[in-house]
Amino acid sequence: MIWTDVRVGFTCNNACKFCDQAETGDASSEALERRLRELPHRDGVILAGGEVTIRPDLPALVATARRLGFRRVAIQTNGRVLAARGASAHLRAQGLTDAIVAIHADRADVHDWLVSVEGAWRQATAGARAAAASGVNTRLATVLTRSNLAALAGLPALATRLGASGLRFIVAREEGRARDTARMMVPRLSLAAEALEPVLDAALAMRIDVEVVGVPLCLLPRHRALAADRLDSSPVHHAFAIGAPTTRARAYAAPCQPCRLRHACPGLDAAYLARHGDGELPAAPPLATLLVTRDTPGRVLKQALVRARRLGATHLRLEGDAEHPEWHNLVREAARLGLALQ
Ligand code: SF4
Repeated sequence: MIWTDVRVGFTCNNACKFCDQAETGDASSEALERRLRELPHRDGVILAGGEVTIRPDLPALVATARRLGFRRVAIQTNGRVLAARGASAHLRAQGLTDAIVAIHADRADVHDWLVSVEGAWRQATAGARAAAASGVNTRLATVLTRSNLAALAGLPALATRLGASGLRFIVAREEGRARDTARMMVPRLSLAAEALEPVLDAALAMRIDVEVVGVPLCLLPRHRALAADRLDSSPVHHAFAIGAPTTRARAYAAPCQPCRLRHACPGLDAAYLARHGDGELPAAPPLATLLVTRDTPGRVLKQALVRARRLGATHLRLEGDAEHPEWHNLVREAARLGLALQ
């Protein structure tokens, strides 16, 4: 299933303190229809804002997407409008299949403070419940900030009560219209991961689909499979009808160079790494690199391995000529010496 993310605009009825949306205008109905027609994949489309549900043309957009052949049409929403009588059922009738509803805490006071609207949690939870009750596959999305790490534990139970099938946790980042406030909201990744682990355990025990975005794999040792932004998992395509896409600028640190998870790991936000450094990442294991060239005798290469082990290396990277007649012997010798191959 390939999802394409179409951004419809910027206007919103919340004012989230961590909002990472870039300042853009709102796309016209015609521009959005054109964009939908141009999309190469007709699997699933996610209509995202700003806030999509405050657009009067949303039901028509959903119907257009289904008419164009999209098998699934999702909205990413703060959920408040979905609580209005008949709103969810009407969207369902137009062909809406999925809703991702932003609920940032298991309690109203924390959520309302984060989105700067009194009463927003009550409306968002009612909206999620109404969407699920009308047959829309509903998932909850929670942005992890410094202010809600202590208000996550009840989210799996809340999701179950609302009829939601999944939970997605996304680490706040320094980007977009709330960049200045967001800087203060971005949690330390190690603390976010620590708060998240028991919540992920609980969600899995309740058979709730759960995923995480923005946490490097080394900080999620028991839940690496839940990282939705793994580089080896299927991507969401971004089709921005307006403005330029905001993308996570990935960065990797010194401990990432020898890391065996590097090929799959989304790394860290560049701004985060610049601000906080790499002290939260596990230290790189002592690594020796052996350059194998055609002319180097096998005896010399084996001596180099023994010397590396004596000097404290626990990991080995073999580089160079894999056709060297001693290559396989070197691999065996490394294992005998207790050197893990990278
Ligand atoms: S690549 Fe870097 S951030 Fe990712 S798991 Fe490895 S050490 Fe951690």
